[in-house]
Amino acid sequence: MTKRFSIAIVGAGPAGYFTAQALQNLQTDDRKFSIDMFERLPTPWGLVRSGVAPDHPKIKTVSKVFEKIATTEGFRLFGNIELGRDISLGDLKENYDAVVIATGSSQGKKLGIPGEDLPGSYSAAEIVPWYNGHPDFANFKVDLNSETAVVIGAGNVAMDVGRMFALDPHELDTTDTADHALAALHASSIRKTFICGRRGPEHAAFTSPELRELPKLEHTDVFLDPSAISEAQARAEMKGEIEKDLRNNLEAMKTVAEAEKKGNARSLTFRFLSTPLEIRGNGKVEEIIFGINKVDGDTVVATGETYTIKCGIVVTAIGYEALHLDGLPYEKGRVLNNDGRVSENVYVVGWAKRGPSGVIGTNKSDASAVVELLVSDLKNPKNSPDIANQLRDKQIVDQSGWTKINAREVSEGESSGKPRRKMVDISEMILTATN
Ligand code: NAP
Repeated sequence: MTKRFSIAIVGAGPAGYFTAQALQNLQTDDRKFSIDMFERLPTPWGLVRSGVAPDHPKIKTVSKVFEKIATTEGFRLFGNIELGRDISLGDLKENYDAVVIATGSSQGKKLGIPGEDLPGSYSAAEIVPWYNGHPDFANFKVDLNSETAVVIGAGNVAMDVGRMFALDPHELDTTDTADHALAALHASSIRKTFICGRRGPEHAAFTSPELRELPKLEHTDVFLDPSAISEAQARAEMKGEIEKDLRNNLEAMKTVAEAEKKGNARSLTFRFLSTPLEIRGNGKVEEIIFGINKVDGDTVVATGETYTIKCGIVVTAIGYEALHLDGLPYEKGRVLNNDGRVSENVYVVGWAKRGPSGVIGTNKSDASAVVELLVSDLKNPKNSPDIANQLRDKQIVDQSGWTKINAREVSEGESSGKPRRKMVDISEMILTATN
């Protein structure tokens, strides 16, 4: 006889969808899965909607895969349902054969330096969802009324934020940048953007495709000190053969360093070996002090020297931590887990499991491995009552409701050549979904 197991997935981002896909792939004649995905927003896709930079539309095409998973028999979306507000972890554990937490990491890590809380100092965890139209940041005020912005961190998020500040906003007119952010970027006074990493170019977490697109920016000159790259190359060679990813990265940085500068008013400048020590200003950010480091064998040490960048905006892009949800154990910014197992019938995947690392595709193999464990733990289905009964009074945005939101956004974007014009107001989304 066919056993039908019910699985709850909390969080409709890449890790959640790849978990659903892995379950769908493991169905047999004897074993089927009913998959319910819970998402606190009325819109799914997680970071593909609110994290990926608007000028990277190709990365967002993975949403087609998500929609295929969502329209496969046995899958239901419960959008606008928040764990802790509308339903508890206890409810899910009781009703489902397994619960998979796929809630990512949304809290920006802090530097912990003086001046970090001054107006004008932001976290990438605020700026990225702001320009991507996340409803929580629809009314967030970002003051771009300053000539110089400094982004802290040498990862792809720092690169995204730096590029969004530095490029000519006309280049965003045909993207899905939120209306409020596009207007603010058009009015922005920023002309000089710095991206500052605390270690050397050889330690940077940027990836080479992202570096290689920088010289293609038509209205922005990108500066990267060529001697910083040759020194990094020499240090890396001293250690033996340079592994492929690092070689590609250093080559890409060299290309950036050597690219022709066109005398554009807009610039993006990379600084390495710079540790932020203090943000200063009278009631708002006015400058940031960096300690200069040097590479000493396998470590980076302070030289004791400092330099200052006068600026009105600082954005910290140094990684994320998971938001704590009731009933789950946390350690080092993630859900405490053993290869994805959290406790009896509770599992975790994606950034909530392993921390904020890897690209969207990394979540596929990660979710598959956790799902294999989950399936090996399953015995007999609970056959609990349908959770939809318990949620009868809630304004659930299901797959058909989301399809209406999606269709409206896409159609509203068409006239201006955008892939979509994002709604940022939750009541408007719900109204669209339920009409
Ligand atoms: P990340 O890649 O881990 O980079 C974090 C950066 O912050 C590192 O350079 C790190 O330097 C620095 N940092 C950490 N603590 C610091 C401190 N106290 N002071 C100064 N610097 C500090 O993280 P992310 O940029 O947030 O990206 C998260 C993940 O998403 C990554 O896997 C990334 O590749 C991915 N992502 C991909 C794309 C894309 O594919 N286009 C776009 C965005 C994000 P140290 O190395 O010295 O610790």
